[in-house]
Amino acid sequence: MNKKYTAAVIGGGAAGMAAAIACSEKLGKGSTVIIEKQARIGRKLLATGNGRCNIGNNRLSEANYHGDKKIISSVLSYYTLNKEKRFLADLGLILRADNEGRLYPYSNRASTVLDCFRYRLSQNGVIELCDFNTVSIKKENDFFRISSGGDTVFAKYVIISTGSPSSPSLGSDESGYRLLESLGLKKNTLFPSLSPVICKEKTKSLKGVRAKGKASVVADEKIISSRIGEIQFTENGLSGICIFDLSRQVNEYLKKGVISGSIYSNVKISIDLMPEYNESDLIGYLRKCRSFFAQRDSVEFLSAIFDKKLSAYVCSYSGIDNKKCRSITENEIKIIAWLVKNLEFTPEKISGYNNSQVCAGGYDSGIVFPETLMCRKIRNLFICGELLDVDGDCGGYNLHFAIGSGLLAAKSVK
Ligand SMILES: Cc1cc2nc3c(=O)[nH]c(=O)nc-3n(C[C@H](O)[C@H](O)[C@H](O)COP(=O)(O)OP(=O)(O)OC[C@H]3O[C@@H](n4cnc5c(N)ncnc54)[C@H](O)[C@@H]3O)c2cc1C
Repeated sequence: MNKKYTAAVIGGGAAGMAAAIACSEKLGKGSTVIIEKQARIGRKLLATGNGRCNIGNNRLSEANYHGDKKIISSVLSYYTLNKEKRFLADLGLILRADNEGRLYPYSNRASTVLDCFRYRLSQNGVIELCDFNTVSIKKENDFFRISSGGDTVFAKYVIISTGSPSSPSLGSDESGYRLLESLGLKKNTLFPSLSPVICKEKTKSLKGVRAKGKASVVADEKIISSRIGEIQFTENGLSGICIFDLSRQVNEYLKKGVISGSIYSNVKISIDLMPEYNESDLIGYLRKCRSFFAQRDSVEFLSAIFDKKLSAYVCSYSGIDNKKCRSITENEIKIIAWLVKNLEFTPEKISGYNNSQVCAGGYDSGIVFPETLMCRKIRNLFICGELLDVDGDCGGYNLHFAIGSGLLAAKSVK
């Protein structure tokens, strides 16, 4: 195999598929190849949003992204929310939003999204080259030589979209970074983001419990960020969308003792299990519970509002003896109310790439021109998707960026 193409897209994820669609639309059938090391393209896309694919968000804003500000701004001004809706509608996809503005395909199935992308790739005559693990790229005159060790293809333009090492069970690894490093391109340090947090407290008894609440990062006794939503307890800490969103700051603190440039000596995650209630209303409710559930064991004191395991955890954490609810004292009610509003966890580390949704760090605007995503040092070589030093919050922001950056990278291909 020694075929020549005008454009080669290496990595068949969301960014690569979008880039290949845009290239082929301009260059015509047979001009573009999408190269994928796995047996099929789009494997990670199928796993997104728990199989529902949260593809964007009606509340899109630069504030939901972290990393290189110039690249974030350039991609979001090129790929606006309206442009996203038009691009997806043009593939036959219509969306619906949940209460948080998260956008999903109308079918609620990630497979629909992948089918629509693949259908357009095939209609546009894009060549899908799967089971091709790219191990080297070299520039030879006006063409790049792309090799898997055995097979080789040539292309005038190369867009690299090989993604990050997050979730290796979906085939992810660091091979894209190695390719770019072999071309002399240096990345910023990588670290897992949108990840569960491992905590010091013993949470084994809570494994699998989910609760709606407000989670906050409390640094030196000051709340520095909060998220409302679902919190999941794991056998060694915390997970769920709220925690994923806070994990970046927690990781920064654990690694460097710093969050957004400020030094802190003590960081906790505090959970308010009933954010709609203030402490005095909650005390009033707990007093009623004391008489409603007079004959129940004290560990079940909160089981009318929480999962039984969570009720037992909070009650035993509060130090009340094993007795009947009717014997719970006024002081104990105050302690329990305080704990319900301020259940604290001490982060020890961030769960690694096995459980993270994205990877922070990567290639920044010192390596690529933010306006085009072309490498400053290597003409006609573009980088997009998660390889770039940009990561978004939970809520569809990462797929929005992946697709938008793929389309932006393809813009300069002629
Ligand atoms: C479980 C999970 C759920 C998620 N849910 C959401 C969600 O609902 N909404 C959201 O916005 N984001 C979500 N994300 C994040 C989002 O999926 C990623 O940010 C996005 O898919 C990145 O797209 P990408 O194209 O850059 O990389 P990827 O999708 O990872 O694609 C990279 C592709 O390149 C291929 N490749 C790698 N190396 C080579 C090589 N050397 N040669 C050839 N091919 C190669 C890989 O096999 C892969 O197919 C989720 C992530 C995970 C792990």
